[in-house]
Amino acid sequence: MNCIFCKIINNEIPSYKIYEDELVIAFLDISQATKGHTLVVCKEHYETLFDIPEKTFLHLMNIVKKLAKDIYEKTDANGINILQNNYLAAGQTVHHFHVHIIPRYDEQDGFNPTFKENENPNLDEVFNLLK
Ligand code: AMP
Ligand code: ZN
Repeated sequence: MNCIFCKIINNEIPSYKIYEDELVIAFLDISQATKGHTLVVCKEHYETLFDIPEKTFLHLMNIVKKLAKDIYEKTDANGINILQNNYLAAGQTVHHFHVHIIPRYDEQDGFNPTFKENENPNLDEVFNLLK
């Protein structure tokens, strides 16, 4: 399969691995949006949140929590964002499930997840759709 994360998992291409167990692997994101930007990736190839089995997902998210704390402390960051993209419209570029751990230092640190404020949201309509 022509998947860059599968190649990293199979040691076909190099990475800076910081954690590994039987189900997941964590390595430095090559782009380093901020210092310490890390990806936590399932070893089996599942494309999105909707594909990964619950057991693997729960295990992976526990590792995200542990690594996030470790990274937060070691980098001396002031905050942490956890980000997970699914499908192209959401910015997913590698179609193998992964979670970003992004240490935050200040508002000018290179990552800006600020939400755009919607002036007139139709909450009734949205609520009727989702309830
Ligand atoms: P996403 O946009 O959520 O699919 O994120 C994919 C991430 O994978 C991006 O932040 C890339 O910088 C990162 N990436 C792509 N290739 C590599 C690689 N060879 N090693 C580490 N990270 C990578
Ligand atoms: Zn893959």
